[in-house]
Amino acid sequence: MATINRNVTHLIEDIEREVRYTQNYIGKNKLDKRVMQAMATVPREKFVPEHLQYHAFDDGPVPIGYGQTISQPYIVALMSDLLDLKPEHRVLEIGTGSGYQTAILAQLCEKVFSVERIVELSLQAQERFKQLKYKNIETRIGNGYHGWQEHAPYDGIIVTAAATHIPQPLIDQLKPGGNLVIPVSASYFGQSLMQVKKDLAGGIETKDILSVAFVPLVHDDE
Ligand code: SAH
Repeated sequence: MATINRNVTHLIEDIEREVRYTQNYIGKNKLDKRVMQAMATVPREKFVPEHLQYHAFDDGPVPIGYGQTISQPYIVALMSDLLDLKPEHRVLEIGTGSGYQTAILAQLCEKVFSVERIVELSLQAQERFKQLKYKNIETRIGNGYHGWQEHAPYDGIIVTAAATHIPQPLIDQLKPGGNLVIPVSASYFGQSLMQVKKDLAGGIETKDILSVAFVPLVHDDE
């Protein structure tokens, strides 16, 4: 059996190094302290499948079944940072997956609403939230392309699968002053991580942050 010779301290060092490497793209050489604290607190090993435990503290994606992956920790930290969350904020996440990003967000704000279309992944994530005693996460099984109107508007929205365009329902469900963070496929340029800001007058400003590689956001099953 492979031994796990890494721990969360190594993971945090790797994220900090990756942030420094990419500082020209992301415009800073350190991420928000609260985000890094959350990354050090949430036990990633609880979100990684049993047989891949030795990858739990690697700064890379790991398969979680159903053709999906738990995202690279550096990207999870960066996207959380780009949301610019305050403790009183309410956030919508599309693509619960393993629930790891959801748990990080739950450390940073008042309430997280998370939508996942694959029933088994959502149920597994819900079980993890229960075991880890998260009380501020609400989940829904369905197509997140349409957001989650019932609890809108949100202070921040994060999509953890790559869309072909920015879904209009998500823009509509974002509060003025809020951020939408989403990977968007740009044909032969691959995918771009975008930060979409809604200003107080409802205007939209998009910023292209970094090239990324996400599984696709499924657009057409509802
Ligand atoms: N943040 C997750 C990433 C999981 S991968 C983690 O770190 O574990 C992206 C997830 O988005 C997958 O679980 C996939 O099933 C889900 N997904 C893709 N399209 C979706 C859609 N239209 N609505 C809801 N979830 C979707």
